[in-house]
Amino acid sequence: MDVTGELFREDAYLKSCDAIVTAVDEKGIRLDRTVFYPTGGGQPGDVGRLRLADGTVVEIKDTIKGAAPGEIIHVPDEGMPALDVRMPVTAEIDWDRRHRLMRMHTCLHLLSSIIKGDVTGGQVSDGKGRLDFNIPDQALDKDQITEALNRLVSEDHPTRTLWITDEEMAARPELVRTMSVKPPMGRGRVRLLEIDGVDLQPCGGTHVSRTGEIGAVECTKIESKGKMNRRVNLAFKA
Ligand SMILES: [Zn+2]
Repeated sequence: MDVTGELFREDAYLKSCDAIVTAVDEKGIRLDRTVFYPTGGGQPGDVGRLRLADGTVVEIKDTIKGAAPGEIIHVPDEGMPALDVRMPVTAEIDWDRRHRLMRMHTCLHLLSSIIKGDVTGGQVSDGKGRLDFNIPDQALDKDQITEALNRLVSEDHPTRTLWITDEEMAARPELVRTMSVKPPMGRGRVRLLEIDGVDLQPCGGTHVSRTGEIGAVECTKIESKGKMNRRVNLAFKA
């Protein structure tokens, strides 16, 4: 299986790209390169469409990882026209939805920087997000969290992607805040997200380029999920 070129890893702001169909089966469509992010790291896969030069449109309802490393599968809606290998297409994501996911995903990095505890899980969804922290019964205050997050947003910190080798990553275990999602090692290098002056951690997801782009957010709920687990829920302010 050919590895799909992951254009979204270098530039999260790409809304479309030209690509060639490399494989089609009952699971979906593979391309030689794509702007579609596949479900992973707590971020949902992109939706969008593939366009042919003759105007044919194949709506994509989800993007997932395949069994082979680096394989990305574009899952079409039911009843879409069939595509053939070697067809050229324009791959185009639903940008408004993706941008909301990028904003909330970046906001979860801010959240993990203000709560001192190991992250045991997390999920981004459209307009909302949450992280689970492995911390004992301690007072987490919704209003304090909301205030701290909005301060980091208004400070408009730039973000950037860095790559380090597997060896450098292994030598810096303090970078790994997430217990449930180990950084993807074994491909030679690990991708890090740095939020200037705020946070540095391994992450393969898509992020906004400055924290100001996140916009106003709110801590909506703190749930107790067992003795050592606090779930902190966020949403965009309407
Ligand atoms: Zn991230």
